[in-house]
Amino acid sequence: MQILLTNDDGIYAPGIAALKHQIQDIGQITVVAPDIEQSGVGHSITFSHPLRIREVHLNNEFIGYGVRGSPADCVKLAIYEIMKKNPDVVISGLNMGANVGIHILYSGTVAAAVEAAIMGYPSIAVSFEITEQYADVQEAAKVAKGVIENIIKHKLPRGSLLNVNIPSRPSNQIKGIKVTRQYARDFKETFDRRIDPGGKAYYWLMGTDKSIHHEEGTDISAVNEGYISITPLRYDLTDQSLYKKIEGWDWNI
Ligand code: MN
Repeated sequence: MQILLTNDDGIYAPGIAALKHQIQDIGQITVVAPDIEQSGVGHSITFSHPLRIREVHLNNEFIGYGVRGSPADCVKLAIYEIMKKNPDVVISGLNMGANVGIHILYSGTVAAAVEAAIMGYPSIAVSFEITEQYADVQEAAKVAKGVIENIIKHKLPRGSLLNVNIPSRPSNQIKGIKVTRQYARDFKETFDRRIDPGGKAYYWLMGTDKSIHHEEGTDISAVNEGYISITPLRYDLTDQSLYKKIEGWDWNI
């Protein structure tokens, strides 16, 4: 089995190394990932400057191909230019931080999986909800492996994509798996406003208090309750019900 492994935290990130280590006996793994962190770049692509690929070694060991580009760039380059055989599955992760709710749209982790799905490959985005209380990446990668093996066993259809989120707790305290829908309401994020030494204001996006966002059946509620959340995603953004409505409008042009 050919596996393309990528991420948005960068090729040196602990999550991708931990996941690679865990899934190495499932198949032949090719790592193609951004050479610097690309979290939050969403589905951006590079076309105004050259994309370069370099072989990356860590402790004298070849670990994969580093790309000075976005996660979506990595998937395109991996499949069109780097891999000799097409992947059977594309995995993006293990991301440091949950990708639930509206954050799915900002996520480079999810975008890499979306890119693979658009190209016709089954793909899995895997994220780990890191908190101050719990951040054991190695153990989360083990949990991720179990989920990935299950997904592969059930044969994900061509061009489909699952967004997996692992809650921030030891594996023996994870309650199970919930298939969920995306929480699709405002996340109520805040900015921290600070003053620089020159007296001018600057801002840090502070994210959201996840506990205030509860809606049964959603990705964020499942993770908050200690379940692994699995959400099937699609990239066709057409609003079918609005389509039907505006189709009937008299446009008068
Ligand atoms: Mn990330």
